[in-house]
Amino acid sequence: MPYDLSGQAIAITGASSGIGEATALACAAAGASVALGARRSERIEELASRIEGDGGRAVALETDVADERRARAFVEHAYEQLGRLDGLVNNAGVMLLGPVEGADTNDWRRMVEVNCLGLLYCTHAALPVMREQGGGHVVNLSSTAGRQARLGAAVYNLTKWGVNGFSEALRQEALNSNIRVTIIEPGFVETELQSHNVKNEMVMQAMERAREEIGEVLRAEDIAEAIVYALGQPQHVCVNEMLVRPTRQRA
Ligand code: NDP
Repeated sequence: MPYDLSGQAIAITGASSGIGEATALACAAAGASVALGARRSERIEELASRIEGDGGRAVALETDVADERRARAFVEHAYEQLGRLDGLVNNAGVMLLGPVEGADTNDWRRMVEVNCLGLLYCTHAALPVMREQGGGHVVNLSSTAGRQARLGAAVYNLTKWGVNGFSEALRQEALNSNIRVTIIEPGFVETELQSHNVKNEMVMQAMERAREEIGEVLRAEDIAEAIVYALGQPQHVCVNEMLVRPTRQRA
């Protein structure tokens, strides 16, 4: 791993699977101590043990970022237990696809609450700590869906578009506090994300067709490396945005 994160403390939401889990492992391998947040506590506890077993430092902090109080507690406990807060990776997310008409509006609420409000709550809790410390780095997981609207993804598009707008405005607000903001926009990554649509046969079929067309999709580790690259830059360099698609993904 060419980037050195030693001495950094990084809090990662959605660390129980996929990109968040891979990011925790990559940050720890680069020398950072990590706080792992998610609802599935047994998964993050296992991951923390694995990182500590490899000589790293990790704490598992069960949270639900859709709940403001618990999102804030995650950031505060990460800071208390690691003694610093250099990075916050707002990675927790859900993607529930399908047409607008006839949609289950609970799915909309879940996406807005996790992908947008959860990210806002954690950021809100982290900013004063980072400013006080003299700097920090907020990494927000958006998506190609934050740049390109697609039939069947309207509300997921809305949430990721929101992440992009918020992140750029935050970057401008926080730069005088030495707080950097990075937007990560992955294309198709093989994770559990797609499987949340299992109730919807048409959506699952469309995703399977997309996967077949692409051939080799991204691995969670590919995105983790992009995140470590952004976190590993010197203080005067802010990677504002990274769009990473599988080579054969068209849009
Ligand atoms: P996964 O489903 O593997 O991971 C999602 C993570 O979010 C899980 O760890 C889950 O943990 C966590 N999460 C969900 N809801 C909550 C909640 N209320 N509170 C706390 N944590 C929560 O998907 P990915 O790794 O693929 O997704 C990570 C991010 O990357 C998301 O923001 C997604 O939108 C984005 N992304 C993914 C792409 C892909 O193709 N996979 C493409 C573009 C962007 P738990 O259930 O334990 O709480």
